[in-house]
Amino acid sequence: MLDKIVIANRGEIALRILRACKELGVKTVAAYSEGDRDLKHVLLADESVCIGPPPSVDSYLNVPAIISVAEVTDAVAIHPGYGFLSENADFAERVEQSGFIFIGPRAETIRVMGDKVSAIRAMKKAGVPCVPGSDGPLNEDRERNLRIANEIGYPVILKASGGGGGRGMRVVHSDATLIHSIALTKAEAGSSFGNDMVYMEKYLENPRHVEFQVIADEHGHAVHLCERDCSMQRRHQKVVEEAPAPGITNKQRKEIGERCATACIEIGYRGAGTFEFLYQDDEFYFIEMNTRVQVEHPVTEMITGIDIVREQLRVAAGEPLSFQQKDIKITGHAIECRINAEDAKTFMPSPGKINQYHSPGGPGIRVDTHIYDGYVVPPYYDSMIAKLIAHGDSRESALARMRTALGEMVIDGIRCNIELHEDIMRDASFCEGGTNIHYLEKKLGI
Ligand code: ADP
Repeated sequence: MLDKIVIANRGEIALRILRACKELGVKTVAAYSEGDRDLKHVLLADESVCIGPPPSVDSYLNVPAIISVAEVTDAVAIHPGYGFLSENADFAERVEQSGFIFIGPRAETIRVMGDKVSAIRAMKKAGVPCVPGSDGPLNEDRERNLRIANEIGYPVILKASGGGGGRGMRVVHSDATLIHSIALTKAEAGSSFGNDMVYMEKYLENPRHVEFQVIADEHGHAVHLCERDCSMQRRHQKVVEEAPAPGITNKQRKEIGERCATACIEIGYRGAGTFEFLYQDDEFYFIEMNTRVQVEHPVTEMITGIDIVREQLRVAAGEPLSFQQKDIKITGHAIECRINAEDAKTFMPSPGKINQYHSPGGPGIRVDTHIYDGYVVPPYYDSMIAKLIAHGDSRESALARMRTALGEMVIDGIRCNIELHEDIMRDASFCEGGTNIHYLEKKLGI
């Protein structure tokens, strides 16, 4: 096993990684910012090193500072968590060049999958179903671009190959605006992402977001851990996630899941990853791959009994996966609510001191959080402060447990979105299952 690792992240995921390390006997170093001295994992880690002032650019995105933490503490590996540097191929490369293990895929894999055009090419080659599209970047040829759009059929969506976080996309409804929109999207992509490559695909009007969790080792094994539905979104941010996805048949799960696992082997994937699909009219369309652990990984852990973070550590240590595809069985249903320090109605961030925190509990309830009585939520980072996960033997039972848990959860002193989740958990369409990615915004009247 790995002797000692640096946790280059903060909040609940840093604590989640720390717990997995403790269980495996791996020593931990918390690399934290000046604004995060009181984080739970910083207090619980074997060692902790401050990497800079609170703004992320000066700390959690500060590559030399993080690498020097590994150097001065004699750590052997760095876990990037999610967000920050987790999908930064240059960082992964620097980590490995400095003689440490990057807990994630190889830098080249991150690079290929981080560029949407090359990711789609790799997936098509591996037999993963993709959205009908331009099959590569658009060029300056107006006639060609109009022809591609008409072949695909309007509406189409223009996407920046280097885009991310829901930015760099534009929907086009007719020939009249296509050429101008391509020019605009290209110019924006160039200035925002330093890469003006733009491609086109069919715009799906009412899809759901369904994604497959995978994990692969360095010995040619890859396993899929079923799918999650993350369609409850606001501004492309996931709000609620669940596993399995309502209405997906075992046949679909097996077919798409196995294609994802095969694709992992073909691209030489290592570690945990997620294939994101849009799902409409019983068809899956690949949109992108996330080459890291996801916020919503606990719902998969609850229904499969697999500890994804532990497995990431084992794979990074060069061990083979501790299970095969045939060992993966789904038990029941799990739902996750992202608890954010923000107003439940206006979504305005609400950092500050938590005067009182009462955690919910009971059968099937899991809370992944770094907060405690007296903890001060800093204003510098993402507003997610907790993940509340409910597992039951059916979707109805998971829903009932989630409602009870939300009713028990008290976070006093700052505002948070518990009320929004209570509302969603009682929403008739959500309770029925299978709502699409626009549902929440429509419900909220945005
Ligand atoms: P990003 O990397 O910016 O998150 P994605 O490719 O994952 O970009 O797309 C983000 C979101 O944009 C999707 O979750 C979906 O809501 C919307 N989207 C992307 N592609 C399409 C498409 N072809 N049709 C409809 N919506 C799309």
